[in-house]
Amino acid sequence: MPATNFYSGYPLHRAQSQRAETGWLDAVHSGRDVRVLALWRNRHHVQDESTPLPLWQQGTVARRLVKTADDTVFLGERNAVPHYACDISAADDPLAGILAGSGGVFADLRSLAPLVTRDDGAIMAAARGLLFWHRRARWCGKCGSPTSSVDAGHARICDRPACGQRWFPRVDPAVIMLVTYQDRCLLGRQATWLPGMHSTLAGFVEIGESMEETVIREVAEEVGLRVVGRPEYRHSQPWPFPSSLMLGFRAEVADDRLHIDTDELEQASWFTRAELRASPEDETFRLPGKVSIARRLVEEWLGEE
Ligand SMILES: [Zn+2]
Repeated sequence: MPATNFYSGYPLHRAQSQRAETGWLDAVHSGRDVRVLALWRNRHHVQDESTPLPLWQQGTVARRLVKTADDTVFLGERNAVPHYACDISAADDPLAGILAGSGGVFADLRSLAPLVTRDDGAIMAAARGLLFWHRRARWCGKCGSPTSSVDAGHARICDRPACGQRWFPRVDPAVIMLVTYQDRCLLGRQATWLPGMHSTLAGFVEIGESMEETVIREVAEEVGLRVVGRPEYRHSQPWPFPSSLMLGFRAEVADDRLHIDTDELEQASWFTRAELRASPEDETFRLPGKVSIARRLVEEWLGEE
């Protein structure tokens, strides 16, 4: 099993010290070696859906993309080559303008992920999350004036000088936990999920709450069970769909009598390791997606026997 979760292990050097410099786009305009990836309405420009290599643009196309994009962000450097992402969501057809002739398709990372390399997955996730935030932060939340991108796309600042409020990309922490009772674990499903899909419980951290308290509260709310002892933190996963950070836990409960909140979950049940290993992976039952932290929490538990 890899040491890190999919979407983490960011392979670019973030070069934070360069973000505050006004010349962060000089490399693009001066014709230096750069890479620019276009995103359109949360979709990435890739070769095709079965070979989803990101189509990084260089030279004139890169320069024209940056010039016309709604937003451009600096992703970092690899081998001293600056990498950027451009949001071209305003275009009706992203393949009709500057990118005409460059081929490829625009596709959703969530469906591409199983075919994307870990490095590409981490970069594409960060690009998507950051550009999504820009589209939601165009107006100042304090005074309502327009905002402008600063720090190479890693902050926005209110245009009204008397306000000048800075806004930073937000990350919403959420806990996700494999609940166990003796030799079984609990998986549930929401009505909107792919048929048969089951996963671990999860929920957003509320203001004034520790991660451990969220685990205890969510387990009580969703399935009516009491966590025994302290929930055990395992590892985390960026989940920029649109802006979560998933904090993975294991939690043992006091008994197995479920009281399911049907507003949250369509169903939840206990499973043995043998049952999960024999998952048919079809519309009757399937495990969480292979790139998800939920799947890793399950796989780790399966590996303990
Ligand atoms: Zn303002």
